[in-house]
Amino acid sequence: MATIDGLPPLGTVIAAHGLSARKALGQNFLLDLNLTAKIARQAGDLAGSDVLEVGPGPGGLTRGLLAEGARRVLVVEKDARCIPPLEEIRAAYPDRLEILRADALDLDPLAHLSPPVLIVSNLPYNVGTELLTRWLDTPDWPPFWTSLTLMFQREVAERIVAVPGNKAYGRLAVLAQWRSDPRIVMELPPEAFTPPPKVRSAVVHVTARAVPRYPADARTLFRVTKAAFGQRRKMLRASLKGLAPDIEDRLRTAGIAPTDRAERLSLEAFCALAREISRS
Ligand code: SAM
Repeated sequence: MATIDGLPPLGTVIAAHGLSARKALGQNFLLDLNLTAKIARQAGDLAGSDVLEVGPGPGGLTRGLLAEGARRVLVVEKDARCIPPLEEIRAAYPDRLEILRADALDLDPLAHLSPPVLIVSNLPYNVGTELLTRWLDTPDWPPFWTSLTLMFQREVAERIVAVPGNKAYGRLAVLAQWRSDPRIVMELPPEAFTPPPKVRSAVVHVTARAVPRYPADARTLFRVTKAAFGQRRKMLRASLKGLAPDIEDRLRTAGIAPTDRAERLSLEAFCALAREISRS
């Protein structure tokens, strides 16, 4: 059967390299190249950008990114068994694919990529939230990336885009929505993957804003949301009492009722409170 790039179908590649999926590495592979090309298109125009892909596995999404015209793709894969099939893709796209066998948690992306950088990945579930938090929580803003196009378990995607009052609303929503615009752009059933996971998945597209939505000191906002959502069912005057001795006055000055709870507080209110706490 003809493929988008003339390379063998992924089922053939996996069989040829004996790539049985390993649960410990979060390996649920996408084998439909039309689907991986569609995911690659969610990142927008790839032609003028370098792309970082974490966890390429046998290279389904990598092939989608290259076929859709990415200037360069850097793939970072922990599993040595995936390197030979990735080398075969590199042979078909000389100069456009760099392969690193490494743990993505140890990577310094700017040592390998030139801006503008897009991050597009079907993330392993075991490190997905950790990587997203690091990319959203960079000390400098705007960050090194222009946008993130990431596949997560549906439940994690919902936590990223959640609004106050929703049970999924928490620190991840505040972090993602403070300096970026996240939205869910695709949903995938378990059958889209080999082997199928137990849950549905979703692709989230996150665009970095030039400036944060509301002013606040990043470290203080981090401390406030950590304390507030750490005890999300408590009233804020109780969950935040360790942040300042006069927390009730500070909450009122920020326009927040001390009896309110974290899950009902808007992003704007969290930022006002972070400013109020940084004042001392
Ligand atoms: N991109 C492929 C696809 O869509 O078919 C594979 C996605 S699979 C969900 C996640 C991939 O991440 C696996 O290939 C796994 O080996 C790799 N991986 C797991 N932990 C990793 C880590 N810490 N650093 C880099 N790659 C990792």
